[in-house]
Amino acid sequence: MQLMQRIAFTILFLVVFVGFIGCSSEQQSDSPKTLLISFDGFGHDYLQKTATPHFDSLAVKGVEAEGLIPVFPSKTFPNHYSIATGLYPENSGFVNNTMYDPKWEEWYRIGDREAVEDGKWYGGEPIWNTLEKQGIKTGTMFWVGSEADVQGMYPTHWKTYDGDMPGKARIDTVIKWMTAPGGDTADFATLYYSDVDSKGHRYGTKSDSVKQAIQRADRLMGYLKQEMKAKNLWDDTNIVILSDHGMVDQSADKLIRLDKIIDMDDTERVIWGPATMIQPKEDRKQEVYQALKSAEENYRVFKKENLPERYHLKNHRRVEDIVMVADLGYTILDEDYQDDFIESLPRATHGYDNNEKAMQAFFIAHGPAFKQGEKVDPFQNIHIYELINHLMDTKPATNDGSLDSVRVLLK
Ligand code: AMP
Ligand code: ZN
Ligand code: ZN
Repeated sequence: MQLMQRIAFTILFLVVFVGFIGCSSEQQSDSPKTLLISFDGFGHDYLQKTATPHFDSLAVKGVEAEGLIPVFPSKTFPNHYSIATGLYPENSGFVNNTMYDPKWEEWYRIGDREAVEDGKWYGGEPIWNTLEKQGIKTGTMFWVGSEADVQGMYPTHWKTYDGDMPGKARIDTVIKWMTAPGGDTADFATLYYSDVDSKGHRYGTKSDSVKQAIQRADRLMGYLKQEMKAKNLWDDTNIVILSDHGMVDQSADKLIRLDKIIDMDDTERVIWGPATMIQPKEDRKQEVYQALKSAEENYRVFKKENLPERYHLKNHRRVEDIVMVADLGYTILDEDYQDDFIESLPRATHGYDNNEKAMQAFFIAHGPAFKQGEKVDPFQNIHIYELINHLMDTKPATNDGSLDSVRVLLK
């Protein structure tokens, strides 16, 4: 009996001890790592514009999508925040780059630091909060929403947005975070670059400036690989590279003069863009809508309550009562802006219907979790939040995405 007891104790000890070793080594070296990188305004077809050896190598050794479908409107802030939360704009509250909240009687503009850093504008739960709540340290080398106290939290490491910060320095900082000692090691990090978007807007999608910006982005990927390899981060980090939307050229013969269609004095607010949001004065709603409806050419107009379901936009108070959606490449403007606009051509923009192929972004993923050398069909960016939770082995908060929609990317 005594012998049996001793054997039993020995077995118990071995089970506990081996289990303990296994656990501790998993936490120290095998913890999943994800790096999420956004190149703003990098269209689904941009890799074909010029030589991109580093992106190509990532695509060949990883998995690439034919396109990444943005949320509507295909603007920067709604899309980055939908990627971060897995929520459609009507559920994240991020319905445009510029928004008016009628309840608070306050404006949000992307250049207004006070608003950008105010967590009250940001609904849902961004991925860095989900991970931090589950004990994973995170670092954001810029991401929409990461500079704000969303749910009263911040990533462990984050920086105030500085569009002038050099590309390599952003990578150096992220690598420092991912190798930080003392329990502050970030196992999830983000990088963001606006260069390709800015050059697209200013010079058009066919310009040499855009090609050069794509080449700069490609070189940054070469530098990232070199530096991550040097720090032993390359082989076990899953890297998700994407953009928020595509880009389309504008032209002088594709103009929609809003002030010729409606009486601008009938409006309370106009938020310009390929999806122009119009708040008519209280008693002028029907007149404004009717004028737009009877002149409906090269755009479509909707009363807020009749916005197509697939936009996932109408159920939020920050959407104005009337929404005009310009056909691809058309520019909605008024007399005041027309001359400046024509003078500044060639130009390009985004914000159009997210069903348009030209609004699709690029997507490449590389790392231990991903398939190798495959190209998959386009999918919506709201599934990225679920994908990252899967990669990080965490439990997602309520969101509009599903892992099943992106399982095709995984080994
Ligand atoms: P869009 O007008 O949709 O093309 O927005 C792109 C612009 O958003 C870029 O020029 C960036 O400089 C800017 N941007 C991106 N992230 C941030 C941020 N966190 N804070 C302020 N501006 C940003
Ligand atoms: Zn953008
Ligand atoms: Zn842009």
